[in-house]
This record gives sequence, structure tokens and C-alpha cells, in this order.
Amino acid sequence: MSLRQYRNETNVANMGARDAVGLGRIVFDVAVSRAPDPFSERSMSDYQDIIYEKFGAVVRVSHNRPKRGNAQNFQLLRELDDAISRVAKDPEVSVMILASVGKHFSAGHDLKEWNDIGISPSVEDRWALEGDLYFGVALRLWELHKPTIAQVQGACIAAGFMTANMCDLIVAADDAYFSDPVTKSLGAASVEMLVHPWVLTSRKAREMLYTSEPIPAQDALDFGMVNRVVPRAELEDATMALAQKIAETPAFALQLVKRSLNRTQELQGFRDAVKAHFDTHQLSHYSETHKQTAGQGMGTAISAGKTAVAAE
Ligand code: ZN
Repeated sequence: MSLRQYRNETNVANMGARDAVGLGRIVFDVAVSRAPDPFSERSMSDYQDIIYEKFGAVVRVSHNRPKRGNAQNFQLLRELDDAISRVAKDPEVSVMILASVGKHFSAGHDLKEWNDIGISPSVEDRWALEGDLYFGVALRLWELHKPTIAQVQGACIAAGFMTANMCDLIVAADDAYFSDPVTKSLGAASVEMLVHPWVLTSRKAREMLYTSEPIPAQDALDFGMVNRVVPRAELEDATMALAQKIAETPAFALQLVKRSLNRTQELQGFRDAVKAHFDTHQLSHYSETHKQTAGQGMGTAISAGKTAVAAE
């Protein structure tokens, strides 16, 4: 889908509000230009790039693009958005796991799609697309009123880092590593959702973003960014066991305590801070530095992605 097609599909009448969490909250008021929902009449088996599985009161949503390092393309993100709404509306579901099929959690956004679009779309086009699918989906995941657990193995890079860290808990395999290199590799101000200082100490977040050095799973555990590190072979079972344990807690009480925990961070400025960063991030996309480095950086990243695929 091209950016122009994306804009043409959007419904300006819907701009400004979207209730995806079931508690009557406006979840995104910066750039919600919503397309008519193409998934509303679909069954779960119609998903192309995610897998939606139900295990009693637990739903597991998995990235399903292992041959692309589970890079998040527009289709995958729209399906993830739909899955979040589905979990929100299903009274039988208490907990959601966000997982990935294959060797890696996610290599980030699918840069090949941007390579096809070109690196300099209009401000309006980029704002609409990134606001809805990148920032918006991430925020709607954070605002889902039911607890979420990211199940992370292998690479968890850039948008993968952003998405995993919007979950309430993270269970990591011992081969997992976390990274956001785009400040260096693309000359952009990090990714769209600056969750980093909310899940790491300020100093570790700065070190990570200034150096682009990855954080191994064990270090992430030591920093308190992940809840548990388990052997790779045990990741799926350990995450499901944790989810089922959480699901034993009364569902409405879980929702209310999550509401208070989210509000605590909102009172600390979470919402304003991430929205302000989204604006700054957009500015960085139109800097000379980004224009000069993005082409080369995207090519390098795409090549790296192909190498990772070859190793699957
Ligand atoms: Zn961006």
C-alpha cells in the first residue's frame, strides 16, 4: 500500500478519537486518521501476518513473518491493531501474550516498504501513517485494559523494542537482545514511541540511544527491564504459565489495578512525554542528517535483514 493510497483510505471524520480499550478513553488525539476497518468482518483465521490463538483466558498474538525477521509491515500492524481490539472486547480473555514465530521477536519496522515509498514523503503523509500505525498501535497496546506479556527471543530491535516494551511484562529467552540503533543508523531521533526512559533508568536509556549498543537479556533483567529470563527452549511454556497464573486473578480487579498503574505513569508525564517525542521524531525525519543517512542506513538495515533471514 502506498502512502497516497493510505491517505485516501483514511476517514477524516474519525480524526481525533478512538476507543480501543473498552473503558471509554480517547486513546490517541494527535494523528488518528482512521481507515475503514478492513478486519471488522474477518475471522481470526484471515490474518496474514499474525497468528491469533486462544488458550482459555489467555490470547497469544504472534508476529508471523519469520522469513523477514518478523519485521512489522503495514499489514501486520493493522492486524495487530485489530487483535488488540478483539482482546479488549472478548469477555473471556483476561491476558494477552505478544509473541513471534521463529528465531527473532522483531527486527523493527519493515524498512523495505519505506524503501518502496521513498525516504521523503510529505510531512502530512508521514504524520498520518506513523501516527496511526507506529505510535498509535503502540499506544493502543499500552492502553489495552487487560494485562499483556511480551514473549521475546532473538533480536528485539527498534520498533520491536518499542512494541515489546509497551507490554506490562516481558519474559525473555536467554538469546534475546534489545536494541534501538536508529539514531545512529538512520539519523532519526530514536523510534516513534520513546518508551525507553520509562522501562530503563534514565542513564541506561541515554547510553543505549547514544551508543546504539544492544542490551543482552541478562543485562535487561539486571536493569529491571524484563521480568524473567529463561532458556530459549522453555520460553513459550514459561510465558504461558505466567499468563495463566495472572489469569487466575479476578479479571475486573486486574483491569482496575492496571488502570491505576497506567495512571501513575500518566501522572508522571508519560502521555505528554511520548506525544512530545512523536513530534520531535517527525522533525528528525526532515533533517538534512536523516536525508543524508537514511538511504544508506536503510540499505544497510535491509541487507542485515536479508542476512538474518538467510540464517533462519
Ligand atoms: Zn519515524
